[in-house]
Amino acid sequence: MSKVRDVIIIGGGPAGYTAALYSARAGLDTLVLEKLAPGGQMATTLSMENYPGFEEPISGPDLALRMENQARKFGAVVEYDTVTEIITDSEIKTVKTLKNIYTCKTVILCMGASPKKLGIPREDPLRGSGVSYCAVCDGALFRGREVAVVGGGDTAAENAVYLSRFCPKVWLIHRRDSLRATKVLQKELFSIKNIEFIWDSVVEELHGQFALEGITVRDLKTGNRRKLDVEGLFISIGLTPSTSLVEGKVALDPDGYVITDERMRTNVPGVFAAGDIRSKILRQVITAAADGAVAAHSAEQYINDVFGG
Ligand code: NAP
Repeated sequence: MSKVRDVIIIGGGPAGYTAALYSARAGLDTLVLEKLAPGGQMATTLSMENYPGFEEPISGPDLALRMENQARKFGAVVEYDTVTEIITDSEIKTVKTLKNIYTCKTVILCMGASPKKLGIPREDPLRGSGVSYCAVCDGALFRGREVAVVGGGDTAAENAVYLSRFCPKVWLIHRRDSLRATKVLQKELFSIKNIEFIWDSVVEELHGQFALEGITVRDLKTGNRRKLDVEGLFISIGLTPSTSLVEGKVALDPDGYVITDERMRTNVPGVFAAGDIRSKILRQVITAAADGAVAAHSAEQYINDVFGG
């Protein structure tokens, strides 16, 4: 069992690293636990043009690494380790990982969210063999091939634009007849000749035994079905909050996101949440970073109030 730390931050995305920066810079003993690589979902973004301060787009992994280095520079410790359990029902919290058991005065939950699945047959077995949730990660494997994207939000729009650069044809399949994506992205999307839209439709079937060889799409208005011979399907239909570690421990909204007040406090004293995991209206890198700063500030105040600084 190690020393009692001031702050343990779970998740190394923009919320987590900003919380770490603020908390370490305030002189708190700060540990970040990240299971895989810095950046969270940001790490799957090739080019970010809406993070202030960068006139030229910066890549998600690049920005993530800079955030991690900046937090380390002020003394935050970053461990690459998977959290298996969080015990929050006493004043001193316990965080168990695959390699260690940590104790702390406060926990900041920054585990983010992960892509939603369509929930159709063969989605899991074909994942990695044609079915993907990340165009930036897997898109290059489909160079010169026909692909489809499902969804109508910013992620689907960005993925279609990205794939259109090296795939001869990109089908964008959406369950309604208008997109949810921001207007600026829509404008770009509609200007690209090799993107073709299939409105009011859903993907019903995936074909291919070992690799994706095609999909069946059903028109929700007419009931008509058509087969598309695509080799890649990029499912971009939104996010599921990564809350499995705290289910039944902190209050969640009906969609499963962690409920906080504007100071990022959950209903459990000493437990804060920041970023995409939180119930909020705008999930962006900038809002995740802002949440992280507020959460660290609140954690510092809580430590002063409860433990006397
Ligand atoms: P989203 O905004 O929730 O959009 C999900 C899309 O998928 C919607 O169009 C939705 O249809 C559709 N959908 C949901 N469930 C479906 C299902 N079961 N079958 C078929 N279609 C389904 O998700 P997102 O695009 O991943 O974006 C998530 C958040 O990240 C958003 O806040 C977004 O603004 C942000 N983001 C921002 C950027 C950027 O600023 N550059 C880039 C990526 C993401 P309906 O429209 O009918 O609901």
